[in-house]
Amino acid sequence: MNNTAHVPGSSLRQRAKSPSHDRSATEFDSRINERIADKIQQEIWFRILRLPSRITHSVRIVPLTLIVLWIFLVLSNTYGPFGYWESFIRMSTGYRQRFTNTQLARQTGLDSPGLDSYSLWRGVVVISIVTTLTYVSISLLALRHELFHWKPELLARYLDQAKVSFPGRYLPSVWLDRAFNLYEHKHAENTFNKIQNRGHRAVEDHRAFLKIVICVAGNILVSYFVVFAMWMTLLHTKFESHNIVKLPRSMVPPVQAVIWYLINDTFYFFPHFIAHTPRGRKGMLHKVLPNKIAEQLQEFFRNIHKTHHKSKANLAIAAWYCSPTEQILFNLFPAMIGPIGTQVLADAMGYSDTWGTHIIALYIWCIAGTASSVLAHTGYRSRWNDPGLHDEHHEYAFGQDAVNFGTAGVWDLIFGTRSMKSANGAVAWHAQRDRQAALVAASKRSGIPLTKQQTLIIQQPLSDPDWADSRIED
Ligand SMILES: [Zn+2]
Ligand SMILES: [Zn+2]
Repeated sequence: MNNTAHVPGSSLRQRAKSPSHDRSATEFDSRINERIADKIQQEIWFRILRLPSRITHSVRIVPLTLIVLWIFLVLSNTYGPFGYWESFIRMSTGYRQRFTNTQLARQTGLDSPGLDSYSLWRGVVVISIVTTLTYVSISLLALRHELFHWKPELLARYLDQAKVSFPGRYLPSVWLDRAFNLYEHKHAENTFNKIQNRGHRAVEDHRAFLKIVICVAGNILVSYFVVFAMWMTLLHTKFESHNIVKLPRSMVPPVQAVIWYLINDTFYFFPHFIAHTPRGRKGMLHKVLPNKIAEQLQEFFRNIHKTHHKSKANLAIAAWYCSPTEQILFNLFPAMIGPIGTQVLADAMGYSDTWGTHIIALYIWCIAGTASSVLAHTGYRSRWNDPGLHDEHHEYAFGQDAVNFGTAGVWDLIFGTRSMKSANGAVAWHAQRDRQAALVAASKRSGIPLTKQQTLIIQQPLSDPDWADSRIED
């Protein structure tokens, strides 16, 4: 890159617009833009402008949402109740009472005062509904991305089908057009956010896709029963004995969130790590158990985890594509042991009112957990989400290079199984976007249009060539 001094914009503009400029002049112009972009990238205002996207990318959407909710909680506790929570409790209690007065409730015995005091509505129905809605809505949003990338004609067909379907006939077609094309203008860029190099069989193959949907629906159903069991366990510890209309103290939910997240990491990491121990190799279980039992347990974890890894390229909707046993042992149990343990312990020590699991903390925990699970499987890096770690986990699956077994990553760091590839990928991804933004700004400043190559900076392949490992069958 040469170091020529500032060239006045007006003469450059003339040069750029001049139809007679030859090839060397274009190269000269492009070098000018490169040089201005270099300078722009050093400028403080440019760095400040690029900062928000870096912050949101490293903090991620789920923790960011939690921080916002926590600020609301602090405000509610400090400046008097906002009233939303109280009205929600009254509304839900109203619905429950209305239901217990129905004939259906009387016939099915659901109107018994014992069951009513168990607050089934609040503890089971609401949690089940909100987590299902979270799972479905994020999956659908991400699925639209997939369809735009690989099968735009498939999306067009779904749109046609939606228009002739029963509900579709009663909806204005503009709404459907909008629902199916909401992000169309952004898609050229999103295409380059895909982390893995492989295509997606489940998106292209209807039967494979249907299999995933049915399996996930089954696991969502399984989760309802586990949520029910969790609620019953919580109720045995005077859960909700205090006034639930009162919000928890400001400092309590963040402390609980950190503890629950670490507990979740622990109870997810170990069975997951054991499941990925290559067959025939002695793993951590062999150190503490007789060989034969260790071998059998290792095989058991491996078998229940196999279904989840049938999907090599990550697909958001396939986050809970796994055997029901895995859904309970790997996904639900590690997530629920935190809230249950906290409540049992707080109750035993007499701190239930302060440190017990508050229902609002439970709701947010369940929603955040579900959202994180789906977001880890979207397969696309964005300023809100980076599923790189889990992408790499799926890529190397049961191979010798298997990495990233935890959720928080603490145990991966301790065991040396956390890969740096994703973090390096994120750095390169940001560098590309910074460069692109700087070049666009440089072009505006100089008046010289960017060359084709300069407009395609974010399209440069980021992936390691061995990212799509040929040893792994799709
Ligand atoms: Zn795995
Ligand atoms: Zn996964």
